[in-house]
Amino acid sequence: MTQDAPPPLLKLRDIRKSFGTLDVLKGIDLEVAPGEVVSIIGASGSGKSTFLRSINAIEPADKGRMEFEGWDFDFDRDSRFFPTDRQLQALRSRIGMVFQSYNLWPHKTVLQNVIHAPMGVLGQSRTEATEVADALLDRIGLYDKRDASPLRLSGGQQQRVAIARALAMKPRLMLFDEVTSALDPELVNEVLQLMASLADEGMTMLLVTHEMSFARDVSSRVLFFDQGEIGEEGPPSKVLRAPESPRLQQFLHSIL
Ligand code: ADP
Ligand code: MG
Repeated sequence: MTQDAPPPLLKLRDIRKSFGTLDVLKGIDLEVAPGEVVSIIGASGSGKSTFLRSINAIEPADKGRMEFEGWDFDFDRDSRFFPTDRQLQALRSRIGMVFQSYNLWPHKTVLQNVIHAPMGVLGQSRTEATEVADALLDRIGLYDKRDASPLRLSGGQQQRVAIARALAMKPRLMLFDEVTSALDPELVNEVLQLMASLADEGMTMLLVTHEMSFARDVSSRVLFFDQGEIGEEGPPSKVLRAPESPRLQQFLHSIL
C-alpha cells in the first residue's frame, strides 16, 4: 500500500506582483513539503527577492493565494480572504527571513538582538527568551560573544547571529536571500554549514543562492527564475546538470 504524501507546508497559487507597469512576478505556483529545501536561482532582476518578500508578506503580493499552517489567504485586496494586519504579523512571525545584509541592531548586544522579537512579539519572559537564545548562541559557537556588540563580530559571525535571531522565533519555514553574497569568501562556509545543519534537522527552507555546490548538495529541488516566472524546476541533478531550456543553459554557463 502506498503511503499518502504529507500535505504541503506551503502552497502558492498564481502569485503576481507589479511595481507600476513593471510585472515582476507573473504567476508563480509552488508547493513546498515539510522538510523540503528549495533553492532558487536566476539572473539579477528576475524577481527572486520580490518572491521571498511576498511569501513572508513584508511586501504582500498583488494577487494569488497562499496556504500555510491552516491559513488560506487571497492577496487580492478586494478579497474577503485578504489577511488582516494581525494575520500578516502572525505570518511574518511564523516565517523567518534572513537577508544578504545582516541587519542586526548595532546598539544592542548579540543576546539582545536575539531575544528582542521573542519578548516583543511572542510575549516570552526575559528569562525564557534568554534561555532559548543562549542555547542557539551555543549551537552556532558564539555563546562567548553574547554580550558583545555585533559590530565586533566578523561578517560570517554576524550572519550566523542573524540566523539565530530568526530561529529564536521558532519559525516553521525559513527564507534565505543570498545570505552569503556579502561575505568575504573565507567566511562563506561557516554560514553554509549552519544552513546545511538546519536542513539536516528537517527545517523547511527556501533559499535564493549563487552557491551552486550548496544548491546541488543540500536542496531537494531547484527553481530557475526567469523574468518573473519559474522557467524550469526539478531535482538539482536535472536542473543543474541537464538543463533543458537555452535560457537556463546560458544562465548556468554565465555563473560557472
Ligand atoms: P532579484 O532578487 O531576482 O535580483 P528583485 O526581486 O530584487 O530581483 O527585482 C525584480 C525587479 O523588480 C527588478 O527590476 C527591480 O528593479 C524591481 N523592483 C524590486 N523591488 C522594487 C520596488 N520596491 N519598487 C520598484 N521596483 C522594484
Ligand atoms: Mg535579489
